[in-house]
Amino acid sequence: MPDHSARILAEVAARRAALVTLTRDLVRIPTLNPPGRNYRELVEFLEARLEAEGWSVELIRAEGAPGDSDRWPRWNLVARRDGTRPGDCVHFNGHHDVVEVGHGWTREPFAAEVEDGRIYGRGTCDMKGGIASAIIAAEAFVAAMPDFAGAIEISATADEETGGYGGVAWLAEQGRFDPERVQHVIIPEPLNKDRICLGHRGVWWAEIETRGRIAHGSMPFLGDSAIRHMGAVLEEMERTLFPLLAGKRTAMPVVPEGARQSTLNINSIHGGEPEPDPDFTGFPAPCVADRCRIVIDRRFLIEEDLAEVKREVQDLMERVRAARPGFSYEIRDMHEVIPTMTDENAPVVRSTAAAIEKVLGARPDFVVSPGTYDQKHIDRIGRLGNCIAYGPGILDLAHQPDEWIGIDDMVDSAGVMALVLAELLR
Ligand SMILES: [Zn+2]
Repeated sequence: MPDHSARILAEVAARRAALVTLTRDLVRIPTLNPPGRNYRELVEFLEARLEAEGWSVELIRAEGAPGDSDRWPRWNLVARRDGTRPGDCVHFNGHHDVVEVGHGWTREPFAAEVEDGRIYGRGTCDMKGGIASAIIAAEAFVAAMPDFAGAIEISATADEETGGYGGVAWLAEQGRFDPERVQHVIIPEPLNKDRICLGHRGVWWAEIETRGRIAHGSMPFLGDSAIRHMGAVLEEMERTLFPLLAGKRTAMPVVPEGARQSTLNINSIHGGEPEPDPDFTGFPAPCVADRCRIVIDRRFLIEEDLAEVKREVQDLMERVRAARPGFSYEIRDMHEVIPTMTDENAPVVRSTAAAIEKVLGARPDFVVSPGTYDQKHIDRIGRLGNCIAYGPGILDLAHQPDEWIGIDDMVDSAGVMALVLAELLR
């Protein structure tokens, strides 16, 4: 088999200006989520762009998915290109939604200004630059090797920033990531062009409520304070749970290093009288709190079992109850995601690693994300394990003011993705 790398990389390099234009065009459509603005406009723009280049394109609305409504419909795009012979299907998936702008910008967030080799704007790095790079990679590959085997798919999906239920989860439920249909998935999230992300830790969100009895605040002994009970819960967490979690280390190569262990965040705490409206000028009423609630965000490791993760918290609550007469509580599950990690020897990992070495002249780092992303749906609903996140952009810039993406980084990672296609679709 002759090595077509030089020809493929030349085709990518020749599309540098097209890559910049496509990224800027995508950033200029502000697909803010929530609530999910301009999704239809974005997928229609991409549909026209891809059809003109010979792709067959479907627009798919996740009708009835969480967040979907006639006012804010959840639109997704799937484009496909078949080769001349049977073979595997390589699928690039990018989310087209972006998070709110926030404060602190010195640039216009949706102008996509270009300066000193960077494109600035909300969604440049997370992840319209990645979607554009995958499209250019596929087009360069097809130009260099029109006689390829198998098929290439590109999807631009909704709602990753709010869980992906109107996007990748929806497509997975329709069987679009069935291993019979699709054999390799690359998600060009901004993980840095020399890193391959194999998966993510798991998640358990729950609400814990402590209960007491309301009474007049001048006679607290006639009531039973749910806030004091919650104080005891938090103290027990400090004493036993946080040290236990800090001791659980993982073999997963999670970055940053601090997340290479189990973690727990207390997202919120509410007890007693609700916060007054900002325009209320009176005093609060004197009452003993009969309810107190916290929301916990527990991130767990591939070495841990979800049932055991939950049991640790139940056991803790039981210890507190044993020490505090009259105290009752409830734990309500809110959300859970099982950890996932693709094998380092999986075909998509090996070809991407080889392509990175060819383009950048260095071996890639294998990493795991501390938080989840759309791979969870591809793995769990789609039952497809051969999936990675690989794409241009610096992870730390995501969701920040003055977000940007480097044009050289996009060209390099488009080169990597094009070489992966050459390897997997020979
Ligand atoms: Zn993202």
